[in-house]
Amino acid sequence: MADMQPVRGTRDLLPEDMRRHREVVERAREMALRYGYQEIATPIFEFTEVFKRTLGDTSDIVTKEMYTFAMKEGEQITLRPENTAGVVRAMLSNGLRQELPLKYFYAGPMFRHERPQKGRFRQFHQIGVELLGVPEPAGDVEVIAVGQAVLEALGLGGRITLELNTLGDPDSRQAYRQALVDYFSDHREALSEDSRDRLERNPLRILDSKDEGDRRLVAGAPLFGDYLNEESLAFFAEVREGLDALGIGYELNPRLVRGLDYYCHTAFEFTTTELGAQSAVMAGGRYDGLVETMGGQPTPGVGWAAGIERLSMLVEGVPDAPRPLALVPLGEAAEARALLLAEELRRGGFAVDLGYSGNMKKRMKRANKIAARAAVILGEDELAQSAAMVRDLDSGEQELVPLDKLADSLARFS
Ligand code: ATP
Ligand code: MG
Repeated sequence: MADMQPVRGTRDLLPEDMRRHREVVERAREMALRYGYQEIATPIFEFTEVFKRTLGDTSDIVTKEMYTFAMKEGEQITLRPENTAGVVRAMLSNGLRQELPLKYFYAGPMFRHERPQKGRFRQFHQIGVELLGVPEPAGDVEVIAVGQAVLEALGLGGRITLELNTLGDPDSRQAYRQALVDYFSDHREALSEDSRDRLERNPLRILDSKDEGDRRLVAGAPLFGDYLNEESLAFFAEVREGLDALGIGYELNPRLVRGLDYYCHTAFEFTTTELGAQSAVMAGGRYDGLVETMGGQPTPGVGWAAGIERLSMLVEGVPDAPRPLALVPLGEAAEARALLLAEELRRGGFAVDLGYSGNMKKRMKRANKIAARAAVILGEDELAQSAAMVRDLDSGEQELVPLDKLADSLARFS
């Protein structure tokens, strides 16, 4: 418990942070619902196997970033590093495959043991959508359209670029994989140690490498586009036509990959230049092979996930907290009355802060500190007249209002 500091890579969401955070989640949920995506929540930990199987033994997440614990019974559990695996697991556990297509939205914390920096934490939060059971390119288009709608609802439409690529079908992928192995094998000595390992196990991941030397080699590597068969080209053309029809702009990025074997066809990222190295705010793609990898019947899927922290850093104009009313009783009799009055007003829908102690000055100071919109002052004189002094804290104007008219009079402040 070093000096009562939070664990490295975690942070507190104080009310101001929480408001931004909630703004992102609420706008996203609203848009997701508009497209027919229902909210789902899965546990924040799962059997380790759930992630190992879906993310693959060679992914950075599985090899370096998972928080895994052994339970007393000897089972291994892992704090979820992402939520697609959890959603698919939930579909299988609940026998929901009969109800395809399924459309889900989620929001919640994820955990990855990586190097903390701006926009990169060890506990962070994601929103995301998953569309299961739709093999057509229209599914990809819809999922991207929800993403675009969320970003627009957050006022980020013009500040974010959609980058798009295709990974083709499994046949194209196999052909491309071989081309990559041939190319990188010729440059084996120049590859980083990590990438030499990837060359054996998962050559596509080399394209994702952040190593300088690797990146120079990657620049000259074969392009996926040259290995796509007709079906894959046709699928991609349909996705692009759909986006064009909806007026969703994008840039083709032939280097955009998702390293795992069950990804196919569409891969996309919404990126910004405003967050330094952490440029991706939303990332997604088609994962037709994933459900089968988890032991289910083959089921197509497509989805995205977005980092809430990164989005919150970008949003502007988050509404301030609603301003409460401050109830200021003076004297014992008034205090007893105020306790009831506060409750009555709250039941009437007002946000009311009741000062518990102190003189008039101290209580008015608190009213200012919480940015109260008005003060309802209840002193002995007022009480004797069954009234309260209502002071507009912005204009300073005040008037005596009978208690039975109080709610009507205060309505103008909410
Ligand atoms: P990056 O390349 O930034 O590591 P990633 O490929 O690991 O991203 P995904 O697994 O696709 O990211 O997750 C989707 C989104 O979640 C990212 O675009 C990002 O906005 C957010 N995200 C991922 N990891 C973190 C993290 N450690 N802290 C905060 N946000 C994150
Ligand atoms: Mg990462």
